[in-house]
Amino acid sequence: MCIFCKIVNNEIPSNKVLEDDEFLAFHDINPIAPIHILVIPKVHVENFQEIDPSLMAKMTSFIQKVASMLELDKNGYRLITNNGRDGGQEVGHLHFHLVGGTKLKWHRFNDAHPKESL
Ligand code: AMP
Repeated sequence: MCIFCKIVNNEIPSNKVLEDDEFLAFHDINPIAPIHILVIPKVHVENFQEIDPSLMAKMTSFIQKVASMLELDKNGYRLITNNGRDGGQEVGHLHFHLVGGTKLKWHRFNDAHPKESL
């Protein structure tokens, strides 16, 4: 069973922020910003490419709720999902990184020319 399914089933611990019947938000174990939350569907979905749009619609509301709860809606935040190998996805259970709590830098140009940042 995948690591995030184990978190859903409380087989491994997580620092939860918000939960309902279908979704869970918890703190990333290795944060890249003052606030770094992972939001997942409880059902196992491999990645963004695989999610049913009707479930994604509900997930959108849930993510917005988490952002408001943490007051990230006031100054802004970044929402990221890494999709598949080339997208840098390491855990094969759909998750959105909700990142904020500071003015974030934007590494777009490094990503566009990855060899230049080696
Ligand atoms: P990605 O590279 O997009 O697949 O991101 C996976 C994320 O999961 C990383 O940011 C990890 O720090 C995070 N992560 C892995 N295991 C755990 C865990 N047990 N609890 C919380 N976050 C985790």
